[in-house]
Amino acid sequence: MTLELLQAQAQNCTACRLAEGRTRVVFGEGNPDAKLMIVGEGPGEEEDKTGRPFVGKAGQLLNRILEAAGIPREEVYITNIVKCRPPRNRDPLETEQEACIGYLRKQVALIQPKIIVCLGRIAAKKLIDGDFRITRQHGQWFKRGDFWMMATYHPSALLRDVAKRPEAFDDLMSLRAKMRELNIAE
Ligand code: URA
Ligand code: SF4
Repeated sequence: MTLELLQAQAQNCTACRLAEGRTRVVFGEGNPDAKLMIVGEGPGEEEDKTGRPFVGKAGQLLNRILEAAGIPREEVYITNIVKCRPPRNRDPLETEQEACIGYLRKQVALIQPKIIVCLGRIAAKKLIDGDFRITRQHGQWFKRGDFWMMATYHPSALLRDVAKRPEAFDDLMSLRAKMRELNIAE
């Protein structure tokens, strides 16, 4: 299996109802050898139109966040829990997440990142702990198998609530420190 083959499979996927409303499948993009993988929730309107993850308003904020941390976007791999846009941007249902998660698991197996950062509650609950509380547990590190995981606020939450930004900044500094510790950044 390769990322290209997996992406080609996902393009025709009808494993859940989200297939009905999508324009494009948003598989993910970035460095196939990335040490850092970033996982959001699901495509929004812009992503659905372009087929690329995090290109709308939240994506632009994510770009600024990565830039502030000195992490070039093209060095990381960015994807989502579900690859098709939920209607009116509602939360993806547990059944939809479960139908789609196999793609993400294979992406992780192929890319073998050292760190996975979850953006927001949905990704944190699915990947770290079903009982994850983002307000209480953001910024905490979890060792899972060969990689480290952490969740921080979703950039959409930071757009809605500027008061969360200092905490998100602390999470970002912790990510930088972890990357240095693992020798994947200067
Ligand atoms: N929000 C997400 O969770 N993912 C995207 O790709 C865009 C916005
Ligand atoms: Fe398939 Fe995932 Fe799209 Fe559902 S969201 S149709 S499982 S690619």
